[in-house]
Amino acid sequence: MNMPNVHKCPGDGCDQGIPYNRLMCRADWYRVPKPLRDAVWETWDSGRGAASAAHTAAILAAIDACNRARAAEGVSAASSTAARGPGHV
Ligand SMILES: [Zn+2]
Repeated sequence: MNMPNVHKCPGDGCDQGIPYNRLMCRADWYRVPKPLRDAVWETWDSGRGAASAAHTAAILAAIDACNRARAAEGVSAASSTAARGPGHV
């Protein structure tokens, strides 16, 4: 029953299915500091930067910041999901 255009939130221990045009679920997105969120949008460039190294780096930085925030809040269920790709079209 998987929707083809949905992926799992990259937050550690977070199982939310989210649309491919979003990087992570709303709760996790707002754990990312605004400068990193802005960098994701700027490098995304309405999709033109989707596969760029800058966008990939911005995504990985955002996911890392999110998971560090989750860990600090004690909501991280695991710490072994960091090897995933960006999962972003
Ligand atoms: Zn999440």
